[in-house]
Amino acid sequence: LNRRLAEFGTTIFAEMSALAVRTGAINLGQGFPDTDGPEEVREAAVRALRDGRGNQYPPGPGIPELRTAVAAHQQRRYGLSVDPDTEVLVTAGATEAIAAAMLALVEPGDEVIALEPYYDSYAACVAMAGGTRVPVTLRPHEGRFRLDLDELRDAVTDRTRLLLINTPHNPTGTVLTREELAAIAELAVERDLLVVTDEVYEHLVFDDAEHIPLATFPGMRDRTVTISSAGKTFSFTGWKVGWITASPALITAVRSAKQFLTYVSAGPFQYAIAEALALPESYFEDLRADMLTKRDVLAAGLEDAGLTVHRPSGTYFITADIRPLGETDGIAFCRALPERTGVVAVPTAVFYDHRELGAPFVRFAFCKKKPVLEEAARRLKAAG
Ligand code: PMP
Ligand code: GLN
Repeated sequence: LNRRLAEFGTTIFAEMSALAVRTGAINLGQGFPDTDGPEEVREAAVRALRDGRGNQYPPGPGIPELRTAVAAHQQRRYGLSVDPDTEVLVTAGATEAIAAAMLALVEPGDEVIALEPYYDSYAACVAMAGGTRVPVTLRPHEGRFRLDLDELRDAVTDRTRLLLINTPHNPTGTVLTREELAAIAELAVERDLLVVTDEVYEHLVFDDAEHIPLATFPGMRDRTVTISSAGKTFSFTGWKVGWITASPALITAVRSAKQFLTYVSAGPFQYAIAEALALPESYFEDLRADMLTKRDVLAAGLEDAGLTVHRPSGTYFITADIRPLGETDGIAFCRALPERTGVVAVPTAVFYDHRELGAPFVRFAFCKKKPVLEEAARRLKAAG
């Protein structure tokens, strides 16, 4: 393994899912739904396969139907006008979108500011691009993990190339507010920075929180790469269909990297997701309502088991504090948890450079059936 990747090893998700399989524990570690997305969308994929649509290399930027559907979604939902021909790129999940964006936009030695704790692929992709990551920590404050805007401002140097933002935020569940986003946008304009914003959980926001794309703020449209994924919005994480929207210049840049990573993304699923994006608004409402119920079931269960819960405003993850259980080391806690209780969770510390700041936090996924969440909570409580 080369020096750029040596520090990364196996992803925590693979490690914890393997542990779940080995021990037969309930897997609340890796974030994937235990119920597949809509039947009609699955049927659309089958139809595409049978009709021979997408069985050979689809167009590099993605099939026109999907690019048009992405553009229509951005317009309908956020009032953002996006040209499907020049401002949309289909990727192999958000994961490839992140990798291609970093490889295309970061020069060796550039600094990339990311919100810590960060989704694990960010650090690896910045490293593969030869960049240096600069974490800005979200800190617990009045029930949410909050971005300190002064800290963000202070993190910008002459070598800063881009801000890598994620809202709704995995793993903390924070949804950045209009004020926070406006401040990020102002900073980006003032310091002439690119922004890559991972908005894969755009449809999973709860209570009073609202998802506002960074690209909608003044001065942001042409400096922002927005990333989303069908894995989260339609519960098909195995299909690996994601997309980027950005200015023609940024799309062309990211596409230059994508063409040598995967060349194109799998064809038939693109046809199916094009149809999924045109589902009626009720689909998105139901998804959100269902996930909100599940959040509350798991939050109540974790509290009952003695953990302190940071109730998320978005995503399908809860971050819990294990200190009330007399524990301080989330990594050791999560390694022992499956044998001890029959439940798998992910230690949040692995998403930090400042590991000590993440030590007492553990992430649980709630994109699971209600009885599964209830059983997990029962097991945690029984184990004390
Ligand atoms: N970004 C974030 C914040 C995520 O949580 C995930 C999924 N775990 C991804 C990107 C990757 O998405 P995909 O499965 O579409 O590659
Ligand atoms: N995004 C999912 C999570 O955060 C897992 C994705 C993966 O395994 N790479 O759990």
